[in-house]
Formats: sequence, C-alpha cells, structure tokens
Amino acid sequence: MPGLTPGRRWQPAYYAFHNDTLPKKALATLERLTKSPFFGCRMCGNCLLQETAFICPMECPKGLRNGPCGGSTPEHCYVDETRPCIWYKIYERSEKLGTTEKLLEVLPPLDWEKVGTEQWWDLACMWKKKGGLKKTLKALASRDRMAIFDQFMKEYRQPDWWQGDDQPHPAPAHEPVSKLEEKLVSGTFVITAEVAPPIGASGDDLIKKVTMLKEYVDAVNFTDNPSATPRMSSLASCTLCLQAGVEPVLQIAARDTNRMGVQATVLGANALGIRNMLCLSGDHPHLGPAPHGRMDIWDLDSIQLIWLLRRMRDEGKFLDQRDIKPAPQIFIGAASSPNASRPTFQIIRETKKTNAGAQFFQTNLIYDVDKFKDYMEMLDKAGILSRAYILAGVAPIRSAKAAMMMNKVPGVKIPQAIIDRMEKSADAKEEGVQIALEIIEGIKNLPINGIHFMAVGWESIVPRLVTESGLQEKRSK
Ligand code: SF4
Repeated sequence: MPGLTPGRRWQPAYYAFHNDTLPKKALATLERLTKSPFFGCRMCGNCLLQETAFICPMECPKGLRNGPCGGSTPEHCYVDETRPCIWYKIYERSEKLGTTEKLLEVLPPLDWEKVGTEQWWDLACMWKKKGGLKKTLKALASRDRMAIFDQFMKEYRQPDWWQGDDQPHPAPAHEPVSKLEEKLVSGTFVITAEVAPPIGASGDDLIKKVTMLKEYVDAVNFTDNPSATPRMSSLASCTLCLQAGVEPVLQIAARDTNRMGVQATVLGANALGIRNMLCLSGDHPHLGPAPHGRMDIWDLDSIQLIWLLRRMRDEGKFLDQRDIKPAPQIFIGAASSPNASRPTFQIIRETKKTNAGAQFFQTNLIYDVDKFKDYMEMLDKAGILSRAYILAGVAPIRSAKAAMMMNKVPGVKIPQAIIDRMEKSADAKEEGVQIALEIIEGIKNLPINGIHFMAVGWESIVPRLVTESGLQEKRSK
C-alpha cells in the first residue's frame, strides 16, 4: 500500500526481463523506492504522474490511462469492491489542485519496451539534448518557467508516434461515409438497435433478427463479447448484417484486441463495407465466466482507440507511422455514461472522447429522465452537443428480478420506484414496455439525435416500441 496515495495495488509489477548495466539497475531501484511509496508508482516506464495529480493510474485493474471507465463509483472500483477507483482519487485530487484541465490530454498507450525500466536517465539525456544546465538556468530566471517545464515534460510523455493533446480534432470536411452519418448530418432522427451476436456458429438467427428490425432501425450494433463472455465476433456479425441489407455498427472492445489487431480489424472491416465503429474499453474479464485468462492487460483504452482510428482515417498512418493506402473511412462512435455517479467527472471524459475524434455517442441505459435532462444540459454547456450526435440508450425491462440484475451492470442505475412498479405489476413484461414508452416520451424532444435500443435477448419488442412511441413518424420527418 503506497503511503501517500489512496489505493491498494492490483497489478503484478512490471519488471524488465533484460539484464541492465549496474548503474541502470541502481537507478531503477532508486526510482522505484522513491516513487512507489509516494505516488503508488508501478514502474510502467511511461510516466504520467504530472497529468494525473501525482497518483499513478496503473493501479486501475483495466490499466486505463485516460480516465475512469463507465462503471466507476465514488465508493469503489467496480471490478474489485474492496478498493477505491483510482481514477476517482485522481479526479478528486485534480479538482483540489485546480488541475482538471490536465485530464483532457489524450495520453499514449504504454510503450512496452520501456515497461519496468527507469526513466530518469532518459529524462537526463533529453534535458542535456535540449540545452542542459545553461538552458535550465535561463528558464528558471524566466516568468514562463512552469510553462517551459510543462512543455519539456509533455515532449517526454508524448512520443512522435502518438502526439496526444487536449485540443478538439473534428473530422475534416468530407462526404458522409455511411448512411447513418448521412442521416445524422441531414438532421434526421435516427434509431439504432443492439443485437447480441449468436452464441453458436450459425448466423441464421442473427439474419432473422436483422430482417425483422430492418424497417424500424437505421443501423444495428453488434456487441463485442458483451459481459466479457465469448460470442460470434462483431466483425462477422456486421458482415452478415450487411449481406442482409442493413447497415451495421461494429463495436470494438479494446479489451479483446491490441494495437496491431485493431488496426488490422479496421482495415478489414472497411474493405467489407463497414464504416460505423463504436470504440469501447469493454467489461472486465472478472465479470465473465471462469476460467479467467490474464486480466490486467488493456493494450489500449477507449479514448486511445478513438484517437488511433481518427489518425488512421485523417492522417492515413498506422501507429508505427507507415502510410495506409488508401486510408479507411470511419464514422467514429463512443459510449457515454449519463448515470456515472459524478456527472462532472463524466463530462470531462465525454469532452476528451469528443476532442479525440468521437463523432457520435450511444449512451448507457436511461431510466431516470430528470437525471438525463441534467446530463444533457451539462453536455450542452461543455459544447459537446454541437460537436457530436447523441443517441440515447433505452431498454425495456422484463421483470423486477431482471431490473435488480441490471442494476449490477456497470454504469446502469434503475431507480427503486421502477423496481417497485415492476414488482407490483400483474404483467411485468407489459409494465416494462410501458416504462420504456414513458422514458422515450420523456426524452424524445430533448436535443438528442436518436434512440439506441439495447433490448438484448428481446429484440422482437423493438418494432412495437418504435411504432407506439411515435418514433417511426419522428424519423421520417
Ligand atoms: S472503476 Fe473502472 S476506472 Fe476505476 S479503477 Fe476500477 S476499472 Fe479502473
């Protein structure tokens, strides 16, 4: 347990396997002994402490380097309830220090070559290259010394292959790359629906569901091993969906891939005609069935995924800086969490995702209309509504028991009043439909751009919800 930081360590230590020289080993030991007790340092070799209020984020079981996941709570980490969410601690301390603007910088994924190694020698070499003592003395005498220091550290933590920053990166002027984008750009109210990929090797059931939804939705999302449980791949499901004449949204969970795999997937998906891609971190494998594989490796987080896809598209470059010919066309989506227990923290994350390149958001499930209205106001104040499209997440509940189960899903919060209503109802399923219709009625005239249905396992109810809520007319206006 680090002395001055609030969390408890989770991840196994990252130590290099190679045999360093004695001075380097001594330096690494000194760095570990100094930074570990004070900042909870995990020797990731890619230090971010300056941006994270001097709390090491590598305690996060997902290894997230750009902010909390959608399941975080002020009380505890959702993966391990015995420990706090380290990102809450970082956000809280940043608020106290008045450094929340630093949380907007898109921080790079680990350079694994450096993991476990010391950084002080590297920093000293860079310092020398940039002018050493002479330049330092000059900087110290200058009024801008803090800015000079910040710039020096930024150059160190943002390698050329990443170049992350805190600035907005909207897509350059372009023709819409998908029908979904085209409809949103033209101001059409859209409907998307999530379909869980099959749990077998046949696509027949998927094609049936997609064909049934065809008239009622503008695109269908395919989850990527939802709840950390294997199913048919989202890529294969999207391909079957396209063949059935419906536009798909490819969900990419960073959990199940790495920087190499995802770049390959994006190119392959594009060649197959898939343009809408939703970037997610993914549920922790701990939530999935045993046996569990290694659980501490997220090569990329969702924000890094968005940043990577945007650069592939707009700069036509692989992460290793080779040219991509031709560059992929992508309509980039992200998830948002209106139910995060501290909306102010979540807005920082949504802003960061938008800056990184997210063009549309599909929100987590909404059961509290008033809370969602507050969230929309916050998005508006943060300027996100004019920069990204918002599709509000809706799902009917089938029973009180299902509602209680869903309350355990990271980022989902069903008010007790709804659970009570479900419990008292003689026909819980019908009650669930009526609740969903009331929610749609409560939100459909807010400045949202569409509804995203997540009636997983109950996709057959979507046509009724679309028709009875009046959404079918709304989308054809
Ligand atoms: S709640 Fe999410 S972000 Fe926070 S420590 Fe746990 S996994 Fe990481």
